[in-house]
Amino acid sequence: MPDSFDAVVVGSGPNGLAAAITLAREGLSVQVLEAEPTIGGGMRSEELTLPGFTHDLCSAIHPLAIASPFLSSLPLAEHGLELLQPTVPVAHPLDDGRTAVLERSIPQTASHLGRDADDYVKLMAPFVRSYEHLVDQFLGPARPPRHPISAGRFGVHAIRSAKGLATMFEDQRARALIAGVAAHSILPLDRLATGGFGLILAILGHAVGWPVAKGGTQSLAVALQSILESHGGQVVTGRRVESLDDLPEHKALLLDLGPRQLERIAGDKLPKPYLFLLRRYRYGPSVFKVDWALDGPVPWKNRFCREAGTIHLGGTFEQIAASERAVWENRHVDRPYCIIAQQSIVDPSRAPEGKHTLWGYCHVPNGYDVDMTDLIENQIERQAPGFKDLILARSTRSPAQLEQHNANYIGGDINGGVQDLRQLFTRPVPRIDPYSTPVDGIYLCSSSTPPGGGVHGMCGHHAALSALKKQFR
Ligand SMILES: Cc1cc2nc3c(=O)[nH]c(=O)nc-3n(C[C@H](O)[C@H](O)[C@H](O)COP(=O)(O)OP(=O)(O)OC[C@H]3O[C@@H](n4cnc5c(N)ncnc54)[C@H](O)[C@@H]3O)c2cc1C
Repeated sequence: MPDSFDAVVVGSGPNGLAAAITLAREGLSVQVLEAEPTIGGGMRSEELTLPGFTHDLCSAIHPLAIASPFLSSLPLAEHGLELLQPTVPVAHPLDDGRTAVLERSIPQTASHLGRDADDYVKLMAPFVRSYEHLVDQFLGPARPPRHPISAGRFGVHAIRSAKGLATMFEDQRARALIAGVAAHSILPLDRLATGGFGLILAILGHAVGWPVAKGGTQSLAVALQSILESHGGQVVTGRRVESLDDLPEHKALLLDLGPRQLERIAGDKLPKPYLFLLRRYRYGPSVFKVDWALDGPVPWKNRFCREAGTIHLGGTFEQIAASERAVWENRHVDRPYCIIAQQSIVDPSRAPEGKHTLWGYCHVPNGYDVDMTDLIENQIERQAPGFKDLILARSTRSPAQLEQHNANYIGGDINGGVQDLRQLFTRPVPRIDPYSTPVDGIYLCSSSTPPGGGVHGMCGHHAALSALKKQFR
């Protein structure tokens, strides 16, 4: 094995692999070093509960991957990835028996929204038509708009808080739908730009769907590794990098790591003002995760929930806003907002015949050490009486266990740092090129750089473009 490379990438998450591929396909020699025994970071899948049940340890639902300008440019299908689309991307049941349903079709979605139907169509239709412009603009660093008309029209709504955006609607269903998608931001719903967060996810639900990866999200990691290797790159697992001395010779170093690891690995080389800003980087709330092996499909009362890949639980806009506010303020929540995914309804390979898997989490304060299993299961049982009787086995992960599994999840923060307006495009520090560091040849390429969390690879791709420009041209 050579001991000198054009570029070394530390970490094999979606951003690490995207960075490595971007460099390798330019003809550079690239090695990826991964601490864990398996590749993928937030894309890993395992038999966590019982033999024959495949669970996604972290990411499960992939609107961002399918829409990502970088990932969608790769021959992922040729390298074994199959994305499967549930009939319904998202369902959001309410306690009064009504359900908001985000379907692929905008008019069909509107048909579930009562008197808000027309307003929903008017809001979403133009954005869905121009979604490629929007992801091009917003899945990357801050830069002048390349499509000023669509970016401007979107920006007017996207800058609003989810609370502000929800005032466009009167019916609890449309308002709950907005809360459910916006709460993926893990921010209080009265914060600026949480509306934009929700809008993007809803737009992608219509434009590209919310698919799952056949066989588990790990198949996306495997496909990315295979593409990297087809360009001559290599991945080494079980190699935790603790200092610059652990690295082979290289011209560029790209770290799929957060600011704290950057400081640990290269802190003595970083100038004090940069370190000062790096230490002010803010981490946000965490998640408590549960995976279940089930004796059958979840007996949702509502038929659209039975067909949905993702279900948002937590009730009305006001109930979800209160729950997210409490989490942000480090308070306990008895009826948490939960994100549930049922991959096995579209991917029978996830479980033995007749059986099912279920994936879910709720938000909790950073580092929270209260077991939320019962509370999450109560939320499901409320909408699916009999659910608890189907549980064959479960696996849970607290914030501390998430961090143990992946050193990037500080206190269990799954987004690599708070994603509010102040820190979205200036992560990890305000800098014209946020991927570069003051040390020549060292770059950050993780979700702690723009555009932040999610499986889209765009942080890694942009970091690699920066390295190509600065180190190799
Ligand atoms: C429970 C959960 C659910 C999620 N659900 C979704 C979802 O449905 N859809 C979605 O789009 N996103 C989801 N996400 C978010 C998504 O997984 C992350 O935003 C994404 O994986 C970040 O990618 P990354 O490449 O920046 O870092 P990571 O994926 O975190 O990868 C970093 C890699 O670096 C390795 N590493 C760390 N330290 C070292 C070291 N010192 N030396 C060597 N290697 C090291 C880690 O082991 C890891 O493999 C979820 C995350 C979690 C935890």
